[in-house]
Amino acid sequence: TVGGAQVARLDLAGTARLMIEAALRPARENGPLYLTSVNGEVLARRRASREFAELVDAADLVSADGQPLVFASRLLGARALPERVATTDLYPLVAERAEREGVTFYLYGATEEINRETYEVTRRRFPGLRIVGRSHGYLTGEELERKIDEINDLAPDIVWLALGVPREQEFVRKWSDRLRNVKVIKTSGGLFDFLAG
Ligand code: UDP
Repeated sequence: TVGGAQVARLDLAGTARLMIEAALRPARENGPLYLTSVNGEVLARRRASREFAELVDAADLVSADGQPLVFASRLLGARALPERVATTDLYPLVAERAEREGVTFYLYGATEEINRETYEVTRRRFPGLRIVGRSHGYLTGEELERKIDEINDLAPDIVWLALGVPREQEFVRKWSDRLRNVKVIKTSGGLFDFLAG
């Protein structure tokens, strides 16, 4: 427990392995495996809002996306977190294994331009990786509902969901039930802005 949240004592490689293993198994009956991350800011928000705390605590795995969290956990001695698991480090690691193992990606979030650039950058770096679809993160209403059904029909193994906090956690709660064919959803904050440079 760090700053009130249950954070996984799992390193970067272990987290990537967990995602790939879940991606290679059949989809779960109870919806996609939900992975999220916390840093100091997210923990402060979690403490301030019971509603947001529930969204974070509903995750199957919470990663420590911040070195200060790792330092803080060292005060807990033997229960220390092994290392920082930044989504920006996780993404290429998972992509490399996904390319080898035939695991598919869907990229959801950010502006159309940033989303497209993320798609292209990823394709250049991992040419054998199957990215089965992508969408910017500003859909609403019926358009959004149609997109959710389209994603479920495409049945991507891993959805990288980059909408920022708390939108991405709210999105998971709202739509998980309709994304039964998806194996893993990883909330990704500003990942696509980072990847698109
Ligand atoms: N974003 C999105 N849809 C929204 C709001 C934000 O896709 O309705 C994207 C935004 O383009 C950026 C990412 O979410 O790629 C993080 O946004 P922002 O930096 O505003 O959120 P923060 O991480 O600061 O909470």
